Amino acid sequence: MIFHVLGSGAFAPEPGQRRRAPGRGGSVRNPAGYALDTGRGVLLFDFGFGSLRQLYRAGLESRRVSHAFFTHRHPDHVGDLAALLFQLRYDAKPDSGVLRLFGPRGFAAFCKRLARAYEPWTDPKGFRLLVRELRAGDSVEGAGWRVACRAVPHPTEALAFRLDGARRSLCYTGDTGYDPGLAEFARGADLLVLECSLPDGARAEGHLNVSEALRIASGSGARRVLLSHLSGASARGAAGRLPRGVRLARDLMRVRL
Ligand SMILES: [Zn+2]
Ligand SMILES: [Zn+2]
Repeated sequence: MIFHVLGSGAFAPEPGQRRRAPGRGGSVRNPAGYALDTGRGVLLFDFGFGSLRQLYRAGLESRRVSHAFFTHRHPDHVGDLAALLFQLRYDAKPDSGVLRLFGPRGFAAFCKRLARAYEPWTDPKGFRLLVRELRAGDSVEGAGWRVACRAVPHPTEALAFRLDGARRSLCYTGDTGYDPGLAEFARGADLLVLECSLPDGARAEGHLNVSEALRIASGSGARRVLLSHLSGASARGAAGRLPRGVRLARDLMRVRL
């Protein structure tokens, strides 16, 4: 399995981020979007604005997407869903013949309103679209994997996801406030992708600062950790103090699982 970071940024592009963003690329970070290529299909985890273009820049294609898991309905996590549906209506059809969307409570109503707003341009044509809301404790099974979810603190209903495959596991948090239970949820994962929007000392409801993210990372015992959903300030605040196994995500980074 290969995990692709489509967007490692926080909710908005930042002036100056282009100059200051660490790592290769050095460009403005795209908002949240991630894709897991299982070899038999592609699973999306969030798909914020700009993600459709990033998917193709990563060398993937929409037709291979079979499932999309959304942590919550903020536009930086769900903004390119309409773009994906628009493309699938008129261009590439899902290879599996069905696209399954998952999100927290309120997600089904959101999808209906989205379809109504764009009617009929995002209605499925030539494939089936299934939408399901997940609650803490629910899980979804696919070809050789299972995804579980956990409710996390954020100003709106929000989930974190954990995928367990035959040999590898992945845990992904979208936006989340400090939740000690996350370390247990991510226990022993091969890869933990953890939001880290804030530098230490900054406060925003429902987000982690660098120290909080590192505390969850070390408590989880995850083999590898990517700090993501980075702002320029949090990336600068984390650089130089990352323990072994913890890295800053960057757009179009790939991690083999
Ligand atoms: Zn959010
Ligand atoms: Zn966000």
